[in-house]
Amino acid sequence: MSLPTPEAHLSAVLEAVECRNQGEPEFLQAVREVLETLAPVLEEHPEYIEAGILERLVEPERQILFRVPWVDDRGKVQVNRGYRIQFNAALGPYKGGLRFHPSVNLSVVKFLGFEQVFKNALTSQRIGGGKGGSDFDPAGKSDAEVMRFSQAFMTELVHYIGEHTDVPAGDIGVGAREIGYLFGQYRRLTHRYESGVLTGKGKGWGGAEVRTEATGYGAVFFAEEMLARAADGVAGRRAIVSGSGNVATYVIEKVQQLGGRAITASDSSGYIVDEAGIDVDLLKQVKETERARISEYAERRPGAHFVAGGSVWDVRGELAFPCATQNELGVDAARELIKNGVRAVAEGANMPTTPEAIEVLQGAGVLFAPGKAANAGGVATSALEMSQNAARSRWDFDKSESRLHEIMRDVHELCYSASERYGKPGDYVLGANSAGFVTVAQAMLEQGVI
Ligand code: NDP
Repeated sequence: MSLPTPEAHLSAVLEAVECRNQGEPEFLQAVREVLETLAPVLEEHPEYIEAGILERLVEPERQILFRVPWVDDRGKVQVNRGYRIQFNAALGPYKGGLRFHPSVNLSVVKFLGFEQVFKNALTSQRIGGGKGGSDFDPAGKSDAEVMRFSQAFMTELVHYIGEHTDVPAGDIGVGAREIGYLFGQYRRLTHRYESGVLTGKGKGWGGAEVRTEATGYGAVFFAEEMLARAADGVAGRRAIVSGSGNVATYVIEKVQQLGGRAITASDSSGYIVDEAGIDVDLLKQVKETERARISEYAERRPGAHFVAGGSVWDVRGELAFPCATQNELGVDAARELIKNGVRAVAEGANMPTTPEAIEVLQGAGVLFAPGKAANAGGVATSALEMSQNAARSRWDFDKSESRLHEIMRDVHELCYSASERYGKPGDYVLGANSAGFVTVAQAMLEQGVI
């Protein structure tokens, strides 16, 4: 039986995915973006076509949907929906964050899980891909409500996770506080102190140094590597950053440490501009400690101003780090960035740049680092947390940060070499997709049809 050409195979798989997952635009976008780059890889590896690797890879191994009932502070019963998508465990236990945000639905969790499979492969840390979350909105909820919700969520999730099975972490709306409540409930339900079941834990009880900083720092390390290839660097450059959560905060911190100037941050209400460079201590005070809105920063910082609504991508800078959410940087924003002299875009968030915007940026010669590669530092450091938990050891900050730096250099190298191998040196979208894919596909091939 003769095999179809790579192009024919890819379009047949894509057509089947589109037919089977109707009404899931984010998931289809993520799959399309990967499949569109894989023809040269399949040319080299026809055995992947024969073994039905792609048909299996686009279907999650397991999808868990559940009811999360809890009682709010007024005594009223609330019902949310919980998700855990165990996408692919060919390389190791499922690993990926939990997102608590009203926009969470099956499509969003599946796109995140799909991306996670490739990202985790790029870290070389032997972790599979998964993702989960809920449409619960932590905004405006009391601590007690967040705790009751987290406990209810874990009461169901407990059946599906474990240090050798599936290891969740944080994402949008899930930080150290939520991980603490989730871990407490897991311990209560299982009667086990299983440190490695969740990552992003408090440092006093199994959390790794630099996990909080890892995604943001890692994105800047990746950008620095990418810029270095073009005889450029972060130092002396103006950086435009969106978001003001975990990833954005530590992108801003690392940009400043490397001698750049991060001048913006945003949330869903608007953005701030601080030409002198963001005061990271004040940002942490407003967002991490007080959980206030970003406009509060501008109120307290002379020289900074807040723009309600609008687009942070209108601000002039040479580096851009989208660190808020999916599809936040579209074609108009890409054109504006180019007009304003942007040289590199590195995604701190997952899929923040639309496919059309990526095309415009790459077409204009802008260096572009996709989230799969650029934000892999968070999950890589989670894997380091798992290793430390298993060994009952604890690394200090410097060792943890230098290991993160090394991993991000390796991720960059892996992506760059793959982009060269498959004919488009410096195309990091092609590089990240193909390098991640080959690693997972090879493991799947060797493990048989499962
Ligand atoms: P946080 O919850 O800490 O912060 C999210 C930030 O993005 C907030 O400023 C939030 O503003 C803004 N935001 C979220 N949703 C929207 C929206 N729909 N419209 C406008 N602004 C929005 O999340 P993280 O920093 O952890 O995550 C940010 C991104 O990075 C996500 O794409 C996540 O998947 C990705 N990521 C995170 C990792 C991690 O280790 N935390 C690892 C790898 C990727 P507001 O408060 O107003 O909603």
